[in-house]
Amino acid sequence: MTYAFPLPDNESERLLALEDYDILDTLPEQAYDDIARLAAFVCGVDKAMVAFVDGERKWHKARYNIAPEEVPRGFAICSQTIMGADPFIVPDTHKDPRVKDIGMVTHPPHVRFYAGVPLIDDAGMALGTLCAVDTQPQDISEEQTRALTALANQVMQLLRLRKSLKVLEARERQLNESRQRLDSANSELRRLTLTDELTGLNNRRAFNTELSRETHHAGTRETPLSLLVIDIDHFKILNDNRGHSFGDQVLIRVAGLLRQRVRHQDFCARYGGEEFVILLPDTPLQGALKLAEACRKSIQENGFDGEKLTISIGVAEYQGQPAEALFDSADKALLDAKRQGRNCIVTGSVTGPATAPTP
Ligand code: GH3
Ligand code: MG
Ligand code: MG
Repeated sequence: MTYAFPLPDNESERLLALEDYDILDTLPEQAYDDIARLAAFVCGVDKAMVAFVDGERKWHKARYNIAPEEVPRGFAICSQTIMGADPFIVPDTHKDPRVKDIGMVTHPPHVRFYAGVPLIDDAGMALGTLCAVDTQPQDISEEQTRALTALANQVMQLLRLRKSLKVLEARERQLNESRQRLDSANSELRRLTLTDELTGLNNRRAFNTELSRETHHAGTRETPLSLLVIDIDHFKILNDNRGHSFGDQVLIRVAGLLRQRVRHQDFCARYGGEEFVILLPDTPLQGALKLAEACRKSIQENGFDGEKLTISIGVAEYQGQPAEALFDSADKALLDAKRQGRNCIVTGSVTGPATAPTP
C-alpha cells in the first residue's frame, strides 16, 4: 500500500538540514517527552507527539499516549503541516477534505482532532511538527494555539542546543587530536635530542643528564656506581683506508656489539666521534671490569667486514666525587690504556689513574 503525500519545494535541502540535526532514531529524552505531555495538556487532548518528517516516514522523538515509533509519511497529517508555516488545526478530520482520507484518520488511531505546529529552523526548513490529537472532534482557542506554538519553539530551542553541543564536541575532538599530535611530536623531538642519529644509542646530552642523576642517587643511597669510557683504537687509519662511510658502518657495528653486552639497567651512549660510555648503576669496580672485558673481547672477536677492531677502556668507580670528576677519572684511565698500547682496560682513581691488569 503506497501513500501519496505533498512534497515541500525545498524537500532535498530540508532532508539534509534534518540529517544535520542528527536527531532521527535517537533515544527518547525527558525534555522532549515533557513537551509532548504539555502539548496534550495545553490542548486538552490525550495524545501528542514531537515528530520529524523524514523522506518516507514520520518518526516520533517523543510520544504521549501514541504507540508507533514511526508511521509512513503518507499516513501522517503532519506531512500536510510541514507544507506551511502556520499551525494546522483540524477540529474534525471527517469533515475536512484535506485530511479525511489520510491513514491516521481512516485507520487506528482514527484521529478526529488534529492540532500541529510546524517545527521550522532558522534557515526556514520545516523539520517536523509538535502535534496534539484526539479521537474525538473538538476545537482549541487562540490562546491554546499560541501555547502550542510556544512549546514548538521550545522544541526548536532544544534542537539548536543539540546542534551547538555537537559542534562543541567536534571542536573538542579536534582539539584533543591536535594535542595528541603535538604530544607525540614533542616526545619524538625529545627522543631526537637525546639520541645519536648514526648509532641510535643515547647521545652525549642524554649521558650527561644520566650521569648527574646516577651520581646523585649513588651518593644519597650509598649504592655503587661505575663508568666505562671506551674508544676505538686507530679508527682514523680505518677511516683513511676504507672511507668515511665505512667508518660509519664500523661505529654502528661497535654500538650494536656494546648494546648486546650491557644489562637493561646500564646506560650506553655515544659520547662523540668513536668514543662510547657505559654507566653501570649498582655496580662496583669488579663488576665493571668484568663487563669491560666482555666488551673488549666481543669487539676483538667480531671485527667488521674483514677489518680487525679493538677498543681501549677506562674504568672508574664512584667514590663520592662530582659527576665531572667521575668522568675525568675514567677518561684519564682511557688515555693511560692508549699509552699502554691499546686493546686494554685501565682503572682510574679519584686521586689519579691506577693501572689494572690487562688480558
Ligand atoms: P686512537 O687509537 O688513539 O684513539 O686513534 P684514533 O685514530 O682512533 O683517534 P683519532 O682521534 O686520531 O681519530 C678519530 C677519528 O674518528 C677522526 C675522525 O675523523 C673520526 N670520526 C669522528 N667521528 C666520526 C664519524 O661520525 N664517522 C666517521 N666515519 N669517522 C668519525
Ligand atoms: Mg680512537
Ligand atoms: Mg677518540
